Amino acid sequence: MKKSAAAREDLNLNHIVSRQFDRAAALVNQPQGLLDQIKVCNSVYQVQFPVKLGNRVEVFYGWRAEHSQHKKPVKGGIRYSRMVTQDEVMALAALMTYKCAIVNAPFGGSKGGICFSPRNYSADQIEKITRRYTAELIKKGFIGPGIDVPAPDYGTGEREMAWIADTYDAFHPQGLDNLACVTGKPVGQGGVRGRTEATGRGVQFGIREAFKDKELLRRFGIRGALEGKRVAVQGFGNVGYHVAKFLEEDGCRIVAIGEYNGCVVRPAGISVAKLAAHRARTRSILNLPGAKSSRDPSAVLEVDCDILIPAALENQLTLGNAHKIKARVIAEAANGPTTPGAEAVLLKQGALIIPDVYLNAGGVTVSYFEWVKNLSHMRYGLMEKRFNELSQERLVGAVENLTRRALSARLKQELVHGADEIELVNSGLETAMVLAYREITEIFKRRKKVTDLRTAAFICAIEKVATTYRELGIFP
Ligand code: NAD
Repeated sequence: MKKSAAAREDLNLNHIVSRQFDRAAALVNQPQGLLDQIKVCNSVYQVQFPVKLGNRVEVFYGWRAEHSQHKKPVKGGIRYSRMVTQDEVMALAALMTYKCAIVNAPFGGSKGGICFSPRNYSADQIEKITRRYTAELIKKGFIGPGIDVPAPDYGTGEREMAWIADTYDAFHPQGLDNLACVTGKPVGQGGVRGRTEATGRGVQFGIREAFKDKELLRRFGIRGALEGKRVAVQGFGNVGYHVAKFLEEDGCRIVAIGEYNGCVVRPAGISVAKLAAHRARTRSILNLPGAKSSRDPSAVLEVDCDILIPAALENQLTLGNAHKIKARVIAEAANGPTTPGAEAVLLKQGALIIPDVYLNAGGVTVSYFEWVKNLSHMRYGLMEKRFNELSQERLVGAVENLTRRALSARLKQELVHGADEIELVNSGLETAMVLAYREITEIFKRRKKVTDLRTAAFICAIEKVATTYRELGIFP
């Protein structure tokens, strides 16, 4: 029997990212050899290691892919999932190279992963697995502040990053800059304020820019402001939780949230805080009082909404369900959620796709700030906060003298407030996301052959990486 197009669809993320690259590469004026170098993955380390768990020994399979060393160190998350494969890690490393170029974070791209589901292991066991994997990376020189700097990704968070930093430190007792070997650490262990929520915050900034962009909205026939838009979010982990929370604060209505075991739908709006508390209590998002629960995890994608935010895994929007998607805006918070087949269908339906390679770059942007903080050994704002406050106080005093009017205590407090680390981090993140948005949309709006934002984003990345190679004198 002949298989349907949906059943035949190639879901290999490495092939998908290659196709996305090729589509953009065909529209840039660069020599083929240079394009080949930008596309290939420079090195992959595959490792198998045993870990004693109670009275049994289990062998784990892990990888670290370093896609491009055109800038050093290379940077990219570590993923823990049963679905991790070498191809997936290589694809995600490539996306990191392009993402860093897009937001001007001075890194090459890398990615790592271990094939196991942390849900089935205790915290002590995950710690052992993490420390052993880190030791394997150290042995082969696949981690270090100037070599390769991991960060959190699917299935990992600040707890794992703290274990990685501590293991690295144990192997390098003289190392002054050891904390810069990994980002996404807890603040007390050298992390930076705002990193945990950075990817979600960056997604919020990217969506905000799109909804301020009248020319773009007109082209896609999207009306109205961001406020009041109905949003569905797939994945209530780090990225999904934060983006739902921030868009709710922006006045959006969160009408559906999905998890691996199903979704909750409430057209009148779900309170993100209430859902988080419900999950903390019951260990599931399902059966939230006042909302309809479904045990079908993919139902969230087909909900009637204005903005759909896949924030879980790749290959969620496929040829099998693209025609059922009602959202006019697809905001890719996850990596690789849309297959090329689904993208073609969605673009034909007139959907605006804000691509992963730009939209979820907030995490690496704030990781960059954390890395710089670790190398400088100083908290952001320490040197200037008090100085700025005193200058502002003098200015406010001068205005009061000139106008012979005292400002209200509240206004005075607002005017003299010097920025803290979190404010500086969020301001830097917004700057990076806004600048990148302008660069990508400039390519989209001004180049006739570019008909989607993903291709525009890839062109932006390819041209920047090509410039670095030229400046290095490697290519003419
Ligand atoms: P996470 O592990 O914190 O959360 C992922 C959530 O998705 C989990 O709660 C999981 O239960 C849920 N999930 C799994 N399968 C699902 C399904 N079929 N339907 C709905 N939900 C499902 O991971 P995260 O850090 O939030 O990462 C999510 C995505 O964002 C990944 O694609 C990751 O690569 C990407 N990303 C993360 C970061 C970061 O800083 N953490 C940065 C850039 C991109």
